[in-house]
Amino acid sequence: AAMGEFELIDRHFKRKPAFARPQTAPKATNSIAQPVVLGIGDDCALLQPAPGMQLAISTDMLVQGRHFFADVDPAALGHKALAVNLSDLAACGAEPLACTLALALPPERARDDAWLAALAGGLFALADAHACSLVGGDTTAGPLNLCVTVFGQVPAGQALRRDGARVGDDVWVSGTLGDARLALGALRGEWTLPPERLAAARQRLERPSPRLALGMALRGIATSAADLSDGLAGDLGHILKASAVGASLTAEETTKIVAAGAHPSGAGAPFDAETLLRVALTGGDDYELVFTAPPEARAAVRAAARASATPVTRIGRIEAEPGLRLIDADGRVSPLAARAFDHFG
Ligand code: ADP
Ligand code: MG
Repeated sequence: AAMGEFELIDRHFKRKPAFARPQTAPKATNSIAQPVVLGIGDDCALLQPAPGMQLAISTDMLVQGRHFFADVDPAALGHKALAVNLSDLAACGAEPLACTLALALPPERARDDAWLAALAGGLFALADAHACSLVGGDTTAGPLNLCVTVFGQVPAGQALRRDGARVGDDVWVSGTLGDARLALGALRGEWTLPPERLAAARQRLERPSPRLALGMALRGIATSAADLSDGLAGDLGHILKASAVGASLTAEETTKIVAAGAHPSGAGAPFDAETLLRVALTGGDDYELVFTAPPEARAAVRAAARASATPVTRIGRIEAEPGLRLIDADGRVSPLAARAFDHFG
C-alpha cells in the first residue's frame, strides 16, 4: 500500500475481532481458541491451525461489471466477497480460521468513507458470524475489484473432495436452487417477479449463506462435495469428471428444489416446468452444496442436515456411464450438457 492507504486500512479494516471462539456452529473436536497469532500490520499474518488439522485455502475474485453492478449495495458486496469464499470451505467440510482481502479501489471510492464503512461492515458481519478473522490484504488504486482468500482447517484426510463419488451413491443438494438466477433475470428484465418474491430472491443473489455447518457435519459421511457457484449441471459435472463417473437426476426432484414461490402453484410468479428445470440446472450463484453419499448413509445424511438446520433433497444417483442424464416423469432418459457458466465461453 502507498501512503494514505494506511489510514484507510486502519480506519476500515483493522479492528479487534468482535467474536469469541468457539462459537455455536459445530466445530472440529480439536478446534483451538485462537488460531490467529498475528493479524494486520506486519509483513505476514501468522496462523496456528490445531494439531492434526490440514489447512484448507481458497481464493475468489469479484470484478465490477462481471460479478456485480456498479451501483451494488456496498454492504452486500462485502458480504458476498467473503460468502463465496466461505462457501468453498463449506464444500470441503472445513472450519473457517481467517481471511485476507485484496482490494482495488477507484479514487472516488477510496475517498468515500460511508461506502468503505458499509463494505467493511458487510464483510465483518459475516466474518464474525463464522469466527473468521480478517488478518491481512492489499489495497491499491484501480477498477473496483475484491479478492478474498480464506484459510480454514479440516482434520487430516477428512476434507470433502470432488473425486470421491462412487457408482451407486445418491446425489444430494442442500436448500433450494434457482433463486439467484430468478433475481438476476428480473433485474435484467428477462421476466418480472412480484415485489416480495424479488426481495427474497435478491437476498439470495446478493447475500448468499455459505453452508458451513452442513459441510462440517458431512465429514466422514459424504463421499464427495462441491458448492454451487456456476450451476448444478456444471458443478456436479466437476464431481463426475473428477470421480470418473456419471449421474442420472430425476426431473421431478430437481424441479422441486427450485424455491417454492416460483412454482405455478405458489404465491409468486408462475414459471413453466421447463424454465424451472433450466433455472435449477444452470442458474449459478446459489452457494448450496451438491454432494454424494452411499444409500446406507441416508439416515446419517438426514441427521447431519438436521444437526446443521439445513434442508437436503436427494435428486439422483451416481452411475458408471459417464455424463449427466435427466429422467422425466415417464421414465424417459435424456442427456444433459454438464456445462458450467464459463467466463470465456
Ligand atoms: P506490504 O507492503 O508489506 O505488502 P501493505 O503496506 O500492503 O503491506 O499493508 C500493510 C498491512 O495492512 C499488511 O498487514 C496488510 O496485510 C494489511 N492490509 C492491506 N490492505 C488490506 C485490506 N484491504 N484489508 C485488510 N488488511 C489489509
Ligand atoms: Mg502489500
